[in-house]
Amino acid sequence: MSQPQEGQHPLVCPRCRSAAIEVLSNSPIAGVWTMYSCKTCLYAWRSSEAEENTNPDKYPEAFRIKPEDIPKFPKVPAIPTLRKS
Ligand SMILES: [Zn+2]
Repeated sequence: MSQPQEGQHPLVCPRCRSAAIEVLSNSPIAGVWTMYSCKTCLYAWRSSEAEENTNPDKYPEAFRIKPEDIPKFPKVPAIPTLRKS
C-alpha cells in the first residue's frame, strides 16, 4: 500500500485523472493527512483514505469520469421551462 508522503502532492485525481488538483486542508496535527480537491470534477479526498479512494488505478471503474464528458452530464434536477404569465 503506497500513500502519498506528507508534502508530496498526488499527481492526478483518482476519479478523472486530471492534474488540476489543489490542497484543501491539512490535519491539525501536522503530517497526519492532507485533503485534496480536483478542480476538474470536484472530487475531494483525504490522503489517509483507502487506495480505492486515492489511487487512480484502484478507484472503482464504474465511478470514473472522463473530463471531456462533464459538459454532457444531465442537470439534475432538470430546470423547467419558464412559465408564460
Ligand atoms: Zn477529478
